[in-house]
Amino acid sequence: MARVISGNGNSKSRALRVLYNCAKCPAYCCTYDRVDVTRRDVARLAKHFGVTYEQAEKRYTKISSGDRVLKQHQDHIFKKACMFLDQEKRQCTIYDARPAVCRVYPDSLRCGYYDFLASERRRQCDDEFIPDA
Ligand code: SF4
Ligand code: SF4
Repeated sequence: MARVISGNGNSKSRALRVLYNCAKCPAYCCTYDRVDVTRRDVARLAKHFGVTYEQAEKRYTKISSGDRVLKQHQDHIFKKACMFLDQEKRQCTIYDARPAVCRVYPDSLRCGYYDFLASERRRQCDDEFIPDA
């Protein structure tokens, strides 16, 4: 999820070969209900914000169906989004401290949502169209 340009993390060199462009996407992957965090992720967040592990866990995460996940805020595009998404720029605000799952997403040369987004934008002849996900 979210890269240099949004919640999803592609380095410049990687962006040369992947078949999606996070800069043209409203950061759909940062609006997933569940962004799982590990103990290591919580520790990284604690260090980033200069708080204790327990404070980071309480402030930035919650339990969902038995697993620890990042908290969300309301979002004007997708109703809810990760609390660390800049909702105007559609960028991750904690890029260097983002959880492991965000670092590897989408773990492929393609992003399914981006394929869908690009297809719908071509169909609508509108480069900024955002389909319901
Ligand atoms: S921490 Fe949140 S905003 Fe940042 S990449 Fe992950 S899901 Fe997106
Ligand atoms: S949904 Fe895909 S294209 Fe959009 S920000 Fe996430 S990884 Fe990038």
